[in-house]
Amino acid sequence: MDKPVEAPVIEGVADLFRKIETFTRAREAQASGYYPYFVPIADSSANEVVIDGQTLVMAGSNNYLGYTHDPRVLEAAETAARRYGTGCTGSRFLNGTLDIHEKLERDLAEFCGKEAALVFSTGFQTNLGTISSLVGKNDVVVIDKLDHASIVDGCRLSYGEIRRFRHNRPAELESVLAGIDPKRGRLVAVDGVFSMEGDLAPLREIVPLCRKYGARLLVDEAHAVGVMGANGIGASEELGVVDDVDLLIGTFSKSFASIGGYVAGSESTIHYLRHHARSLIFSASMPPYAVATVQKTLDLMKEEPERRARVKEIGDRMRAAFHAMGFDTAASETPIIPIVIGPLEGTFVFWKRLFEEGVFTNPVVPPAVPEGSCLLRTSYMATHTEAQLERIVASVKKVGHELGVIS
Ligand code: PMP
Repeated sequence: MDKPVEAPVIEGVADLFRKIETFTRAREAQASGYYPYFVPIADSSANEVVIDGQTLVMAGSNNYLGYTHDPRVLEAAETAARRYGTGCTGSRFLNGTLDIHEKLERDLAEFCGKEAALVFSTGFQTNLGTISSLVGKNDVVVIDKLDHASIVDGCRLSYGEIRRFRHNRPAELESVLAGIDPKRGRLVAVDGVFSMEGDLAPLREIVPLCRKYGARLLVDEAHAVGVMGANGIGASEELGVVDDVDLLIGTFSKSFASIGGYVAGSESTIHYLRHHARSLIFSASMPPYAVATVQKTLDLMKEEPERRARVKEIGDRMRAAFHAMGFDTAASETPIIPIVIGPLEGTFVFWKRLFEEGVFTNPVVPPAVPEGSCLLRTSYMATHTEAQLERIVASVKKVGHELGVIS
């Protein structure tokens, strides 16, 4: 145990640090040996990782297309680092714009079927900067209750009003939209694929509602880009509504094998964001190696559609295998496949047993999911081998029986 935080010196004055002393849950989990966070990976080949000398199959990354260790991508990253250095040491606005940022933005805009695009240093910052600069004092932003934290925080940073509807309930979205004063601007913001559950937003129903009530639509394609749609644009392409989405957002920390994020939209919208998004203007730009990684991955994504087909096929197969064993995989339709366990303790025990069996997964507990709906998030890569997939299936089955989650 660390030294206790020192008591405040002034008697009768509340101590800001009091909450630090009373936060004991994580330490209790650490002491019990069931603490699943901040696990240090010592070595990685993408599909497999080494932790504490043990090799595990990675079934918990977001590396859907498996490009992080591709020699072509590594070479592009290295070449860019040698040419431009290891960092830009400044924001896009001032000294941090490279010609490769601009080329990537042109190519992303074309890829997304939009007039223009803008890259940020993380996906999180993309949502923060985009939403907070567009939603003003007189505006309302309407979000799904399970939207990603970065959308929620973008809304909180804005001066507008936030309204929520229950997950994937378009009828509820309609009643929220119908209740907004027509004099107020409105933005609807949803995840295209929800990050923990792997289900899609009902965009075919959301789009006509946005039209009917004059709302702008933002879709966060973080987990869908590269994976969903004929060209990999995301859930909006899968559901045939790309042209109806005003702002397509995505991250480079998943299929794009790096770090960063983008927003694509009309030329005038992107122009506005370039001059208003504070997380762009007041933060250093994407480092050169990351830009080159994303550029190479984008090029490969276009040349190698078979990877997208393979990861989808793997997802379908794994989902069917888990169903056949009797697991609940919620409403997953993507290579993100949750295994719903329910209670928190049982989820941590399941996670740990899988870890011991050599399978890396992610336990997901409140506030990321509702109380009592804890799950193990499993996710797949186009590069997973048959032997690795079989190992995951066999381990999940073994532990599921052992812990009585399946009979
Ligand atoms: N949006 C969604 C839906 C996400 O799941 C995430 C990251 N998990 C982000 C945005 C943030 O992306 P980044 O990791 O690039 O900050």
